[in-house]
Amino acid sequence: MTPAARLRFTVALTLAFGALQAQDRGPSEIIHHRVNPNLSGPHVAFGAAPTAGSTSALTAPLKYHGGPVFSTPTAYIIWYGNWAQGNGTDTASGQQIVTDFFNAVGGSPYFQINTTYVGSSNSISGNVTYGGATTVAYPYGASLTDANIQSIVTDAINSKALPSDTNGIYFVLTSSDVAESSGFCSQYCGWHTHGTINGLDIRYAFIGNAARCLTSCAAQSTGPNGNAGVDGMVSVLAHELEEATTDADGSAWYNRRGYENGDLCAWTFGTTYQVSNGAYANMKLGTRDFLIQRNVTIRSNGQFCSLVK
Ligand SMILES: [Zn+2]
Repeated sequence: MTPAARLRFTVALTLAFGALQAQDRGPSEIIHHRVNPNLSGPHVAFGAAPTAGSTSALTAPLKYHGGPVFSTPTAYIIWYGNWAQGNGTDTASGQQIVTDFFNAVGGSPYFQINTTYVGSSNSISGNVTYGGATTVAYPYGASLTDANIQSIVTDAINSKALPSDTNGIYFVLTSSDVAESSGFCSQYCGWHTHGTINGLDIRYAFIGNAARCLTSCAAQSTGPNGNAGVDGMVSVLAHELEEATTDADGSAWYNRRGYENGDLCAWTFGTTYQVSNGAYANMKLGTRDFLIQRNVTIRSNGQFCSLVK
């Protein structure tokens, strides 16, 4: 090949490869947590023991792509909608389940899994700081767009309800009467992304109350803390938290198909046990039992979905 031909070939190859990668990552860099696949198939009845999942090594393992990860992220909550309803799920005690999760997940054997991602731009500590919460009503109504979610985060920062924190992950948690029009309940249960807010790279996530669609966004109809919607939400929260930690801008840890750690283990729970109300759980964080999906741990003999590193 002449130098000019070689250049043309290289450019064409680079463009083709770039297009393929862009397609894999999704057009807007929003990375969705898909709905529970077990419920559309005949193999697991809703209300039965949650799927344990395979213990084999992953065939499409995670690779590091050079982008930022969080050493110890600070998690912030924005409660959107009405979390003081008489429906048994959008309640103060429901909020407490989430707060207790954020206060206990850092340093747990489960979150320590993320410390196995060596080679990152900085090391991942396996700890999480809970940075506090704020409450808003319905400033964007009861059917939100993806753009509204970023506006809700922007408003919380600009009003100083929450600090502007490039080490933060802002979780917008909606009450069960709120829709997300890009596909909550039909396509996904939550997502994380990043955006520029006041000139800074800010990471944020959306998670809706799973009570809106338990068969899509929860693994069981009774939760270990007696709130099926919020108990279902916690597993999605854990998923987005570990993904945002290890792939903050969608440029760090993901596999050749564009999947992040949480995606590769979604809706699998390992060994479970039943608590007094009959619900299944698979770990204790603080004083509470939770049913939380497995995460990818990286070991010398391969990558595995697991509850511990
Ligand atoms: Zn995901």
